[in-house]
Amino acid sequence: MIVEEDLEAEKKEIVNRYRCLLRKAKPILKDGDAKLIKKAFHTSMEAHSGMRRRSGEPYILHPLEVAEICVSEIGLGTTSIIAALLHDTVEDTDYEITDIKRIFGEKVARIIDGLTKISGVFEQGSSRQAENFRKMLLTLSDDVRVILIKMADRLHNMRTLQSMPRNKQLKIANETIYLYAPLAHRLGLYAFKSELEDLYLKYSEPEVFGEITSKIKDTKDARAKFIRNFIKPIKNRLSSLGIKYEIKGRPKSIYSIWSKMKKQDIPFEEVFDLFAIRIILDVSYHQEKACCWQVYSLVTDYYQPNPDRLRDWISIPKANGYESLHTTVMSGRGQWVEVQIRTKRMDEIAEKGYAAHWKYKDGNTSDETGLEMWITKVREILAQNDASAIEFVNDFKSNLYSDEVFVFTPKGDLKTLPQKATVLDFAFDIHTEVGTHCLGAKVNQKLVPLNFELKNGDQVEILTSKKQKPNESWLQYVVSSKAKSKIKDALKEERKSYIGEGKEIVKRKIRQLKLNYSQSVLDEIVNYFNVKTVSDLFYMIGTGKIEHSLIKSFHKVSNQGSTGLRDVKLIEEKLRKIRKTDNDLLLLGADLDIVDYKFAKCCNPIAGDDVFGFVTVSDGIKIHRTTCPNAAELLSNYGYRIIKAKWASSGKHSFEATLSMIGTDRLGLVSDVSNIISEELKVNMRSLLINTEGGIFEGTIKLYIEDTSHLAILVKKLEKVSGVVKVSRSN
Ligand code: MN
Repeated sequence: MIVEEDLEAEKKEIVNRYRCLLRKAKPILKDGDAKLIKKAFHTSMEAHSGMRRRSGEPYILHPLEVAEICVSEIGLGTTSIIAALLHDTVEDTDYEITDIKRIFGEKVARIIDGLTKISGVFEQGSSRQAENFRKMLLTLSDDVRVILIKMADRLHNMRTLQSMPRNKQLKIANETIYLYAPLAHRLGLYAFKSELEDLYLKYSEPEVFGEITSKIKDTKDARAKFIRNFIKPIKNRLSSLGIKYEIKGRPKSIYSIWSKMKKQDIPFEEVFDLFAIRIILDVSYHQEKACCWQVYSLVTDYYQPNPDRLRDWISIPKANGYESLHTTVMSGRGQWVEVQIRTKRMDEIAEKGYAAHWKYKDGNTSDETGLEMWITKVREILAQNDASAIEFVNDFKSNLYSDEVFVFTPKGDLKTLPQKATVLDFAFDIHTEVGTHCLGAKVNQKLVPLNFELKNGDQVEILTSKKQKPNESWLQYVVSSKAKSKIKDALKEERKSYIGEGKEIVKRKIRQLKLNYSQSVLDEIVNYFNVKTVSDLFYMIGTGKIEHSLIKSFHKVSNQGSTGLRDVKLIEEKLRKIRKTDNDLLLLGADLDIVDYKFAKCCNPIAGDDVFGFVTVSDGIKIHRTTCPNAAELLSNYGYRIIKAKWASSGKHSFEATLSMIGTDRLGLVSDVSNIISEELKVNMRSLLINTEGGIFEGTIKLYIEDTSHLAILVKKLEKVSGVVKVSRSN
């Protein structure tokens, strides 16, 4: 039962909240605005009368607080305040849109309509949430305030999530992290974004949240001391320069600390950049850039900057309007510290985003800022999108964080790709078939390789070849998820067919050896070649990476037993003994008579390469390049089987190397290339293979060379041949 006294107290609270709203709105109110707000307040009061939130509070407190967030945290004006006050009336009360239109006019009614969830029956398989989000975005074309009020509504709901049942908490928190936080980021509402993320964590992982919160509190004094010391010299200099400033050292958000802990798998104590130092300058608009750089120079007089971490969003602001100068410097205590330098104006835009942006634009709303361009683009996507709402939301989301690059087809059609997209991404964007057979492209009429990174405005013509097919390295060339998954599919298919071929070969060879095709025989072969699994073995045989004729030798070795070269310690001792020194380095080219070694087929080392020896189970020492695709695994998992190796300075050996070339075809090219190889450099060529298609050629040259420097000279010479675009060493 609610007692009379409580009702009185509630009424007082409502009036207080309302007055507080008016007070905060006062600076922006024009003649007659207060009256309109009052009318909206009373209308909302009446509509929601008798309704309570789950917490037990009168419902009207919610729209009142949403309106207050709109004013004080986003900087919106009277129309938004009215719409915020009324935002739940049509959805939750007997009021209709027509009523709102009659009382408050067309503009407010349109906003409220955008804020009202879709009711009625949904198709099977559709998502109410996605449909609602889509509807909300559709209203972007009318009025961006719809989204901003929706953000304020969401923030207040998150702030008051405590009283919701657990399942609702999780649902709302997840929607928030999935849609609203990225949207806040894109709109430049940074303060919103971090609060939403922190609240998400608070409800989705309450224990972690509590733990980090208390650790931040515990380390507060130490941090404050560190910051004091850090900024001391800067403060002195700033004061002597006569620049008005404010310095804040604020901890990063709980959510971002947690993300870092999770991503790097480290405890709280090891997250070193727990905070950023922000220097906010109070200078006039035309002095901004010069002053910020002056302060940058001053900071780096005291602290060494990390050149990779300099971000200049003053010369080129972010698409959402964010401006700031960021650098990461080494503090006196061996800790990296992020320093953000910006002006008061920039700081306000960063905190409040969109609305603050306009405040500084002197009402000149005609020029296209990044945000407007973004909104225009969202409108375009909306206009042509007829996919399901879920797909739509996913598309939209995937475009939120990453910035894009705009390029053109030969016919002039615009294609949008994620930043850092390459020719290969473009090819897969056009069609999977085009992607899998892509050989290279002409970008702005110039021939470029597959991994050429596209820039805004590039015109791209893809060149294909029937013979071309994807290989592992392609995965490194692409950034779009579409291209990645298509390449993976193709590689999987190819691997499957190689495995099939390899299996047949192994079966045949085993039969020839008059052995049974059994798991134990297979295990022996796997062991012998030092591969991981049977399917790896089949694959290596199928692709010819392990020569077929070698299969029979496993039997010989397994009959003979150990080759005596299995123990790294023994080998090293042998080397020391024979040399009569402490040097246990395996000298390639000189130690062949002491210990036997072979060059690994997977990376074909040549003299001059950085290498190491790997003691295999049954095939002696194999020399791998440190850049070998298998190196990381061998070095990290089998450290005890690694033997240090170096090339002896003397010793004439020749090594087989493979070069790939790509370029435009022309008459006489092959003879030019082979002339350079055999005549000019006296290199012994084993084979030269050239495929030509659509004016592009691809060549593979196998040759014998002495060492890496010899190879480098050759590559340089070949690249000078007219028509040749790229020469690279391949395994
Ligand atoms: Mn609401």
